This record gives sequence, structure tokens and C-alpha cells, in this order.
Amino acid sequence: MERERLDVGVLIVGAGPAGLATALRLTQLYEQHNAEIDAGTRQGEKLSTEDICVLEKGKEIGAHLLSGAVLDPRSLRELVPDFDKPGSPDRAPLATEVKHDEVYYLTEKGQWKFPILPPFFQNHGNYIVSLNRLGRWLGQKVEAAGATVFTGFSGKELLYEGSRVVGVRTDDKGLDRAGKPKSNHEPGYDVRAKVTVLAEGPRGSLTKQLLGKMRLDDRINDQRNPQTYAVGVKELWEVPAGRIEPGTVIHTAGWPLDAGHFGGGFIYAMPEGLISLGLVAGLDYHDPAFDPQVALQRYKTHPLLRKIFEGGKMIKYGAKTIPEGGWYSLPPLAIEGALLVGDSAGFLNSQRLKGIHLAIKSGMLAAGTIFDGMLCNDLSEEALSKYAQRVEQSWIREELWQVRNYHQAMEGGMVLGGLHVGLQMLTGGRGLYERYTARPGHEALHKRGNGAAAAKVAFDGKLTFDKLTDVYHSATKHEEDQPCHLLISDTNICNTRCAEEYGNPCQYFCPAAVYEMVDSKSAGKQIHLNPSNCVHCKTCDIMDPYQIITWVPPEGGGGPSYENL
Ligand code: SF4
Repeated sequence: MERERLDVGVLIVGAGPAGLATALRLTQLYEQHNAEIDAGTRQGEKLSTEDICVLEKGKEIGAHLLSGAVLDPRSLRELVPDFDKPGSPDRAPLATEVKHDEVYYLTEKGQWKFPILPPFFQNHGNYIVSLNRLGRWLGQKVEAAGATVFTGFSGKELLYEGSRVVGVRTDDKGLDRAGKPKSNHEPGYDVRAKVTVLAEGPRGSLTKQLLGKMRLDDRINDQRNPQTYAVGVKELWEVPAGRIEPGTVIHTAGWPLDAGHFGGGFIYAMPEGLISLGLVAGLDYHDPAFDPQVALQRYKTHPLLRKIFEGGKMIKYGAKTIPEGGWYSLPPLAIEGALLVGDSAGFLNSQRLKGIHLAIKSGMLAAGTIFDGMLCNDLSEEALSKYAQRVEQSWIREELWQVRNYHQAMEGGMVLGGLHVGLQMLTGGRGLYERYTARPGHEALHKRGNGAAAAKVAFDGKLTFDKLTDVYHSATKHEEDQPCHLLISDTNICNTRCAEEYGNPCQYFCPAAVYEMVDSKSAGKQIHLNPSNCVHCKTCDIMDPYQIITWVPPEGGGGPSYENL
């Protein structure tokens, strides 16, 4: 197949906070460099911001971005100093400053308010934001600075020269279900770059390809844990005035998650009665019938939440995964020709439930490394590995080092985990051992005989909603006639072994009702997929007990259309 080739200097895959911060910081460094040449204070060739290219699979910037989100502004202040200055043309879309924090432990009917806020739940100086609005704003800045953002294009595969990554092939458009070209067929492009930055978010498909090819995602030595994840399911609500003060941030632990299940809920109140509501559940749970979307519905029936949300209106829904493994789960950050930033690398503080500030900072550090390499025309693996050194010397390391064993300790449940965490706080993150080991989350699933039955909730269509109603509110759309983007290497395992051993957990863990077990008269229950519903959260790729599901990007432009999430 003839493919067009596009040559760029820097290719960034993913227009999330990490990718856009990489692009924006690069444009700033290029502009400063060029100004110094004009002023005669620097020798050398000018660098063109048009040589920076970002690929985004969503139909527009921000369409696939979702987070809680309470933003720690530390890195955004470094990137855009006037981002919160009233009246500044640089002012970011901030919903409100955090004014008040509360933390509760919930039982099914009761609650216990923490009398003292743990330091990691203190949000003074932080902002409640919508990540997809913040992403759109950053994207506008990147485009205004001369870089190009191609929306509606996904990175399908990495291009190599020998073992060096030299770019990305974008998705073929206009293929039918069988993979045959339709009348509107358009082959993907080969975008070749001096450096490729993978900023795909958690469990990125190209990142997975790269780490798999290099055999870097295994527990390759005793210094590194496998990455572990959580899934966040979120609804945006509009509630009557006076229910909750804008700027209020509530975090909860306990119900509806059971004692051994890592995670908790959040309620972030914004102006005009808008509330971000969500539940984050560790993807290392035991019960194969656990359903995060149903758990979110149950959560709202708690008296503490019912009094806030009853009579309000659910307006948006979405889900995404979160890398939770922390410092010891970071893969090599620079691999011949490629750098990993943001959630693709696993930069997230799971104790604070915050990653946007780390994503932005990692993108800025990657940009600085690339810029230095461009200046001395050295983008060798050794030159790019300075990115990892920059991370080591930055406040990213300081912050993540303090919580390096947090998620692993909490796998022991609230009580034992709490004791470990207390000890870790006294020992600068160490706890009982220097490194608490971990295993991939899907290995924690118990076989069906040990699992509880799926939790039930009566959906009333007012406070609680079935999955399809929620998915409708994610505004998800895909071209129907295209190859399935969920590759199951052996569906026989789904229909036989998985059905017997685990009761097909995909029916439950997918927050978008993509997987169904459908009765076929001749052959019993068979797996059936509704890929058009997929909100691109990647839970299936992570939590499938046999690791036979591979999520690959569908035709670019498809997927959720998040707004204000
Ligand atoms: Fe998430 Fe996979 Fe379901 Fe898509 S199919 S919504 S990626 S769990």
C-alpha cells in the first residue's frame, strides 16, 4: 500500500496535559533560542516550531480527556506563569479555587468524618478544573505558537530503523469490518521524526508495543514493579442551588468498596451547581463480578450523597484508567528515539490522587532534553537518557519518592494498609521494607467460586442509571463499519474457561457495556462485543484475567466526546 510520508522534528502522540506541555515548552524554548539569535547573543541555526507535530485520536483536542480533577498548579505555573492571574490573556479555564476539604469513611448507611485532614488530602492553593477544558486551552496555545495538532489521527504502530523508533504510522481510514478498503479509504501516513514522545495516557497502545518489544514491561529486575492501575468512573451533575458550597472538595474511603479494595470516592463542587462526582477503584480487586459503574450508582444512594444529588440532573459520564504503581513501576523513560511522559510513563501520586501536575512537569523536562539534543545535533539514546536524569533531579522524584510504596501497602486493605502507610509517612516513604513488591492487578482476581455475586442496584433513572444510559451521556460515537478495535486472541477461552473459572468479568469491569455474554441456542453463551460503546478507558486490556484482550485505537476521530469532564 502506498503511504504518504511526513517528516517532522518532534512527534508527540497524544494531546493530553503531558503531550501538550511537551509541545508548548518546546515552542517556548525554540522562540527564546530564535530571539537570542536575532539579538546576536547566540550563534547557530534557528529552530522552527512548525517542526513540532502532535497526533490526537479524538475528533478535537480534549474530546478524550477526563479527570477528577483537583489541579496542583505547581507545574502549570512554571509553564504559563500567568495562568491564574485575573484578566490575563493567559488565564486558564479554572472552575474555582479549592476553599474547603472534607474526608469521610463510609459504611453502607453511616459516615465518620475525619477530625483532622491527612496532609495528602489538603488542597489549599489547588484548583478544581475540567481536564478536557484545560486540554483545549493548552492546545490553543500550542497551535498559536506554530506547532501543528492533527486531530482525528491515532498512532497505529511505531516505525523503527533497526531498534530505533523513527516515528509512527497513523490509522488507515475507510476500512470495513473485514479490513477491506471502502470507497472513502485513505491509507495512514508514515510520520517520521527525529524524536517521538509517547503521551498516550495510561496503558497507551504504542507504549505497550514498545515496552513489549523491548521486553521492558516484565519485572525485569528486582528494582522495578509491574505497573498497577485503578479505574475512575465519573458523572457530571447539575444540582439545585445551595446544596454544596462551590470550592468544596469531599473525598471518601470505604463503602461501596469492600475493605480489601483500594480506592474511594470524590465530590468536587464547582460554581453554578455543577458537581464532579466519581469513584476510583483499584484494578487489583478479587471479586470477578465487581462492576465500577454499578459501584458508582450504589455510591450515590448513600445518605451523605443522596442529600446532595437527589433532585439534580446527571449531564455527563466517562471513565478512564489511572496508573497507580508509583516510582517503582516507572519503566525506562527514554528508549532509542522515544521518550515516555505523563500517564504513559506512570507519573501519578496515588496517595494524593493527582497526576496532571506530574504529567505537565514530565512533558516540560522531556522538552528541555529534546531541545538540548537539537542544539548539539545529538538525539542518541545516551542524549535522550538525560530526560530520566532530569526527572531524578526534579521535584517529581521528591514527591513520588515519599509515596513510593503507598499503593502496594494499601493492597493489604484499610486497616493493615493504614498501619503501613502511617509507618511510611514516618520513614519518608520507606515503611517496613525499601520496596514493597507488586504483581499485575489481574492476578489478584479470585476464581468465581471465591467471588461474591454481582452487587445489585435498582436503577431509578433519576439518581441511579444503567450502563447504557451513562454511556449515552459520554457522547461516544464510532464509525460502525470498521475492524473491531478490541482484539481477543482466543474467544474460545471467553466462552469456556473464563466462563467457568471467572464468570466472564469483562461483562462487569467494562464501564461501557462493550462485552456481553449472549445465549446462542446451539453453543450456549458466547462472547459478543459492542465496540461502538467503547469510551477508551483500557480497563479490559489491563484486567482481563488471561491477558488475551488487546485494545488498539479505532479509526481516528471515534470515541467519547467529553465536555466539562
Ligand atoms: Fe474500557 Fe475496554 Fe470497555 Fe472500551 S471496551 S470501555 S477500553 S473496558
